[in-house]
Amino acid sequence: MCAQHSKPKSNLIASVLTNSCPRCRAGKLFSNSNPYNLKTMMDMPENCPVCGQPFELQTGFYFGTGYVSYALCVAIMATFFVATYVFGFISIHDNSIFYWLGANAALLILLQPIIQRLSRSIWIAIFVKYERNAEVLQH
Ligand SMILES: [Zn+2]
Repeated sequence: MCAQHSKPKSNLIASVLTNSCPRCRAGKLFSNSNPYNLKTMMDMPENCPVCGQPFELQTGFYFGTGYVSYALCVAIMATFFVATYVFGFISIHDNSIFYWLGANAALLILLQPIIQRLSRSIWIAIFVKYERNAEVLQH
């Protein structure tokens, strides 16, 4: 790909949420854009197709995503708990908390492909800094 077309650069949050390369914010981190294609959901190219940034910085680089994934799951659980409590779906006066536990488990399982991809995106964005003309430097 060439850098002749000037595409507006997304900011850090948008690039993380769209699973984009943290260096150029244009290349995609994952080979398949559909996270629910479970066979290929975690397939990543070795290098960014736009700027050439290696996506696995060292062997086992993505082991650390477990910490990010854990934090994301806790945040989702807390948000889900507060939302269901505020809207009156659970109460401390009956057994509705057990239904909440089941619904929460189902929610987290359904969101796993998105959470895992987002964890990798956040993790690599911590270590790779943005370069304004990264794709130009590559070619
Ligand atoms: Zn890139």
